[in-house]
Amino acid sequence: MKNYLKKDEWCIIEEGLMPEYNCISESVCSIGNGHMGQRANFEEAFSGETLSGSYLAGVYYPDKTRVGWWKNGYPEYFAKVLNAPNWIGIDVKVENETLDLAQCQVSHFLRVLNMKDGYLQRHFTAQLPSGKQLKVDAQRFVSMADKEIGAIRYSIKIENFSGKLSLRPFLDGDVVNKDSNYDEKFWDARHEETSEDEAYITVSTKKTGFVVVTGMKFQVLKNGQVINPNTQPQTRTRYASIDLDIYVTAGDEIILYKYTTNVTSRDYAEGDLLKTAKERISQAFSKGYDLLKKEQAQAWGEIWIHSDIVIEGDVAAQQGIRFNIFQLNQTYTGKDERLNIGPKGFTGEKYGGSTYWDTEAYCLAFYLATADPEVSKNLLVYRYKHLQKAIENAQKLGFEGGAALYPMVTMNGEECHNEWEITFEEIHRNGAIARAIYDYINYTGDKDYLAEYGLEVLLGIARFWAQRINYSEAKKQYVMLGVTGPNEYENNINNNWYTNLMATWCMGYAEDATQWVKKNHPEKYKAFVAKTNFDELRETTKWQDIRANMYFPEDKEKGVFLQQDGYLDKEQILVKDLPAKDLPLNQKWSWDRILRSCFIKQADTLQGIYCFEENYDLETIRRNFEFYEPRTVHESSLSPCVHSILAAKLGMQEKAYQMYLRTSRLDLDDYNNDTEDGCHITSMAGTWMSIVQGFGGMRVRHGILQFSPYIPEQWTSYAFKILYRGVLLNIQVSQEKVKIENQSDTEITLKIHETSHTIDAKQVIEMGLLVA
Ligand code: BGC
Repeated sequence: MKNYLKKDEWCIIEEGLMPEYNCISESVCSIGNGHMGQRANFEEAFSGETLSGSYLAGVYYPDKTRVGWWKNGYPEYFAKVLNAPNWIGIDVKVENETLDLAQCQVSHFLRVLNMKDGYLQRHFTAQLPSGKQLKVDAQRFVSMADKEIGAIRYSIKIENFSGKLSLRPFLDGDVVNKDSNYDEKFWDARHEETSEDEAYITVSTKKTGFVVVTGMKFQVLKNGQVINPNTQPQTRTRYASIDLDIYVTAGDEIILYKYTTNVTSRDYAEGDLLKTAKERISQAFSKGYDLLKKEQAQAWGEIWIHSDIVIEGDVAAQQGIRFNIFQLNQTYTGKDERLNIGPKGFTGEKYGGSTYWDTEAYCLAFYLATADPEVSKNLLVYRYKHLQKAIENAQKLGFEGGAALYPMVTMNGEECHNEWEITFEEIHRNGAIARAIYDYINYTGDKDYLAEYGLEVLLGIARFWAQRINYSEAKKQYVMLGVTGPNEYENNINNNWYTNLMATWCMGYAEDATQWVKKNHPEKYKAFVAKTNFDELRETTKWQDIRANMYFPEDKEKGVFLQQDGYLDKEQILVKDLPAKDLPLNQKWSWDRILRSCFIKQADTLQGIYCFEENYDLETIRRNFEFYEPRTVHESSLSPCVHSILAAKLGMQEKAYQMYLRTSRLDLDDYNNDTEDGCHITSMAGTWMSIVQGFGGMRVRHGILQFSPYIPEQWTSYAFKILYRGVLLNIQVSQEKVKIENQSDTEITLKIHETSHTIDAKQVIEMGLLVA
């Protein structure tokens, strides 16, 4: 755990250059706008530890998989989000000395991520080996208002010398991925061009053929006046730069504005890309930095209106939750239904920017409550568009008749991860995808979604389960064998309680959805039957039979559901009894030892209880929580939030708070010692859930929004925003009372601790905290 970032309500602040933490800060201070993202690398040269990262959403490379022994059905490739052309670079030289913070004496270093207005700033004084001193202030952002635009303001104050200052703004497509399987380069050169103050490079990805044009135009000011220094354009393969020489004396300030664009063949015809990039650059240039920055602040202002959480009395918690909300919004804006949410977003290479079940199981709730419903709908439509590939994926594994198995990891609908226990066995992801349809409709009321897209997906998923489950003559019940549950510290187990639960629920929901669409959209239903060859009677009868006769492992004596067959045969040790030196298990123990142990990587049985909590009484939930939580090592960042929410429901307030803390500052404090690889974006949604669903007790039941709030004793108050069916609410909870403000023009009826309240448009209601 680290504690080097300063606590602040709106900013992430690193004070003093700490090269040993540079890669962590680069992850944490990343900027993004849904279309592109950039780690907080330095603009100028840096010979210290760094992980260069510039990413373009949806631009990926299918890196050939590396496995020991190839088996039928293995995915061909492991997709990578590509490190894309570097657009931030500005080399700085004084006479013949390069500004490189690893080679200078650096003072007053500050790296600040301003989350309120959405920009990154760096400030430092550098003394070069010759003794010459410069003061640099660098600011940059990727525009939320104009997704293809990035802008940099790079100011240099000359402290103590006269002479030649050389600046070289550049674009560099000669970049690599650190996690490349075979040390290959992924970009082919297509074109480079420069003029006096503009440059463009065109590169394309190998195999996938994405074409990207990165462009820049700059302007230089000396002491506030625009100057036109002599320039020397240069190009080489995948690279373009323009050298500027400026004669300076002590006291001068030189400002370089660098306007950049990234346009891709995902959005434009290949032949139009260069022209489009030039137009985009020219628009950005004529707006100018200050206006672009103002638009950026306005765009972020809008986002915060809908999604901010205010915590009083605990700056660390405040910073933590805003950081999580900020990063989620930087990663996914919901404007492009071909995109999704990579577990590391635009902050690093690991997990390849691919889509995991994380989206449906964790992130959807956040976007549902903080953004326009279209944003969440796009996440669902993304899976609808991959249905055919999911059917093909199931076929590859021997399933038929339209059965669909969604991939565990994907870029384009194809499975692209090669660990068999994840790809073949973690089939529970199908359940999360069906459940997301339910959650979306439950929250938005948009039931027509079933007729439009949802039912087809539910049918494919239900068909898969119906074939994947088999009847056990020995048990006289249906069973599901050879799976991996959410707890990846068990592989190839039988009757994972969570997976069995999800599967049977899916079949029930698919049947309900069938009846609803048949009744309410008969024409669409007919078309659906024809398209899918749905044999309603035969297929739904099978689903009913499975649901009525499914086997669920449990221990009646202990009163707990069993994570899987034989779980109690394992030596039952609690995490608290493990020597500290053994943790984290995934770094300290052999895989063999982990698999044999009872230790749980992340919520599994409890994940099922969390999803269907209304089906269990409090005592059942408590018994299961008290049994599983002490056996859980939370070595997935997705684990503590589920525990926090259940603990809150059970009134275990201290536990809920401890679990919340584990997620909220996971990356800021580098809790798992892995933030240098990138931030845990998808688990950030879990942090949001811990506050809103955990402490705030928010649920939607039968179309009614309800809260059962309480407040951790460490906080003075907290407030969160919820956008529910067109109504924006601000829910504020203090140690004494709950205050709900309806900020919209329509009234809303909601429940607080089971009691109904109607709040008129623009009205506020208040009540004592524990009033039922
Ligand atoms: C977790 C998975 C998750 C993946 C990506 C793994 O460590 O066990 O549940 O999907 O990370 O976040």
